[in-house]
Amino acid sequence: MRNKENYLQENFEIAPGTTAFVDRIAKKNEKILNAMDKMAEMHQYRVIKAMQNAGLAEHHFNGTTGYGYDDMGRDALEAIYAEVFGGEDALVRPHIASGTHAIALCLYGILRPGDELLSITGKPYDTIVSVIGSENNEKDEGTLRDLGVHYRQVELTESGDIDIQAALSHLNEKTKMVYMQRSKGYSWRKALTISDIEKAVALIKKAAPKVKIFIDNCYGEFLDTKEPPHVGVDLIAGSLIKNPGGGIAPTGGYVVGKKDCVMQAAARLSAPGIAKEVGATLGVNRILMMGLFLAPTVVAQAIKTAILMAASYRELGYEVCPSVEDYRSDIIQSIQFGVPEAVTTFCKAVQEAAPVDSYVTPEPWDMPGYTCPVIMAAGAFIQGSSIELSADAPMREPYIAYFQGGLTHYHGKLGLLLTLERLKQAGLLKNKEKLENVK
Ligand SMILES: *Cc1c(COP(=O)(O)O)cnc(C)c1O
Repeated sequence: MRNKENYLQENFEIAPGTTAFVDRIAKKNEKILNAMDKMAEMHQYRVIKAMQNAGLAEHHFNGTTGYGYDDMGRDALEAIYAEVFGGEDALVRPHIASGTHAIALCLYGILRPGDELLSITGKPYDTIVSVIGSENNEKDEGTLRDLGVHYRQVELTESGDIDIQAALSHLNEKTKMVYMQRSKGYSWRKALTISDIEKAVALIKKAAPKVKIFIDNCYGEFLDTKEPPHVGVDLIAGSLIKNPGGGIAPTGGYVVGKKDCVMQAAARLSAPGIAKEVGATLGVNRILMMGLFLAPTVVAQAIKTAILMAASYRELGYEVCPSVEDYRSDIIQSIQFGVPEAVTTFCKAVQEAAPVDSYVTPEPWDMPGYTCPVIMAAGAFIQGSSIELSADAPMREPYIAYFQGGLTHYHGKLGLLLTLERLKQAGLLKNKEKLENVK
């Protein structure tokens, strides 16, 4: 093969100056990028140890059918998840359709009519707002509100931190569950760190020892040396087509935490009485295990891409969140473009880098549950998988693109190169002279 710059120019129409620019930024930030490999290394050892402790063997890979009684692979997988994420028990199933479904299981499993749910990280992720329900819900949709569960929320402070005094003052005898969202979702804030979570948990448990603390852990897995259950959180949930599935899991979700809480979620997934005892796995256990095995490395690759993306765009004068040196507690990188054309060009370029559906042109559309059109770029092996290279943007001021994933850093880098090049070609890139004459 010819050298990289020439290859990219001939096959992807990326000017050598652009490639050299990104390589220069990568060199400059080598230490930060390499730190992610150290994190992955530690997690890899922990995952292997958990698999060894579960006595993982070939027979665990045989799936069950029908009721799925005595599914040894499923039991082993759940024991491994419980250990890796620091819980007493886990529910890890292909029958959990998405992250929203996993979170809903926890809410419906634990909350009863008359109970109060208190979010202390402001408005939850859009799809969870639909689960909670609002006064504007016209139909009887079976939301928490329909079932008589009350909901209140405490906003984050200006700096994006938990307003712990306000949170404590909202606790009352009805409060059954405190809800936190670790990831930033579609907002310009930092993700909660494990240390933020630890501090909040200690104060809440002191004030109200019986309150269950739940965390939406989507996008946060394998970013810190600890996970929320290690610092006293009762229950967490997430999606297997994000971080913990390693890009290999074809579907599914997980719930990890205290045994009684996990059992309540399991009773909601199947039914009381049969709870965790049923659920045929049909042979999917092997790839769920392989996905978890690869997840620490895949997450590190995605984070390296996010850091390189942040560093490159910051160098060109863009606002990025988180910034290059910021501590990261989710895999999302936001870049503020300010104009709609730049956001659409950015998303189209990410699509152009995909191994699957690269010929598709993403366009903004009115997605259910959103108040403005949203553009999404994803050319994934697994439908909707956002641990794979993907980008999305709600088409509203100040025109921010949210970018995440990439199973390999090289793929992520190609995505980055294409975004820079296409923005430059369209005359939409700030300080584009920095891509030329680099030395
Ligand atoms: C993705 C996500 C969800 C919902 O997960 P789906 O799998 O899309 O249903 C919930 N919360 C956060 C923070 C997420 O990133």
